[in-house]
Amino acid sequence: MVIEILGEALKLMVLAGLTIAGILVILIWKKGLATRVTYLRFVIQAAALATFFYIFTYPIWLLIMLIVILAMSIVFGRFFCGWLCPFGLYMDLITVARKALKIRHRDLPDRLNKFLHNLRYVLLLVFLLLPAVLLLMDPLPSVQLGIVLAEVLGGPFKPMNILLGPIIPLIVPWAGPLVIGDVNFSYPYVQDIIGYTNGIYATIFPLIFVVLTVVGSFAIRRVWCRFCPTGASLAVVNRFKGFKWAPALHLEKDEEKCTKCGICKRVCSVQVTDVYEQKGGKIDTSMCMLCLRCVEMCPYEGCLKLKIGGKTIFKSRNWLKPSDSD
Ligand code: SF4
Ligand code: SF4
Ligand code: SF4
Repeated sequence: MVIEILGEALKLMVLAGLTIAGILVILIWKKGLATRVTYLRFVIQAAALATFFYIFTYPIWLLIMLIVILAMSIVFGRFFCGWLCPFGLYMDLITVARKALKIRHRDLPDRLNKFLHNLRYVLLLVFLLLPAVLLLMDPLPSVQLGIVLAEVLGGPFKPMNILLGPIIPLIVPWAGPLVIGDVNFSYPYVQDIIGYTNGIYATIFPLIFVVLTVVGSFAIRRVWCRFCPTGASLAVVNRFKGFKWAPALHLEKDEEKCTKCGICKRVCSVQVTDVYEQKGGKIDTSMCMLCLRCVEMCPYEGCLKLKIGGKTIFKSRNWLKPSDSD
């Protein structure tokens, strides 16, 4: 009974938090304070985390959730990665802690970064093809599409769970791998790793993953995003011919205003170099998570723009020029 009351209270708090976050976002945007994109992003990331927790309190069909996230990417590109992904938020918070300690991050060599970026597509292919390979090795007695699909998605190797791994909240409304008091804790991918291991390895491997990603994100910004198959699947659509218009939400650069100061390259947490290198026009890289940090920090008015279709919804400002109130 007490647990049920606490659960209901928690849901109400999440709803209240979402409402406050929504009001804050509107206020920040309306008051023209959106140049502080970093703060705005944290508010939205926190609201998204609360939303995922709330969604998970209901029995939901995970496939629907995955389809919605993937479909979003056709219009919004990797906006999910930049603004909504809970694992992205955890890594960003670790970055905040590192900055508070005044420790500088490490950058990967550009060639290695691009190599890892392409490797994610190979990982994605492996995750998607393995169930099919397992099925070929051990065929089902029936070839009915529904049964085959259920086996591919929910069988011994669960690509859907892996793809949804980054959205796992730290506190989960189900029996998590770590229970303190009545609260269940989890971490992205940990329950999948436990599912594939047993005995002492079911403790050691998840611990190694947690330590590697926490320490890794402390040293290298958004470290897991360099490997993440979900990020690759969100970016996959604009790699196909005929989908060059996608995503409709994209960055654009005005080459004439660019002074090659290099700020956009330095502030990008996943080390996208295309904004700096490309000769104007639509920034055409699937590495970009549309976090807008480069637009916020580019010091030339209108040099970088966030556009949806042909409409500019956010642009860089000349923050080097003292404001009238200074
Ligand atoms: S790449 Fe993966 S972990 Fe990073 S933000 Fe995107 S979905 Fe989240
Ligand atoms: S920050 Fe702006 S001006 Fe500087 S290199 Fe990047 S796009 Fe060009
Ligand atoms: S290129 Fe700009 S918008 Fe894209 S991920 Fe880097 S900083 Fe964010």
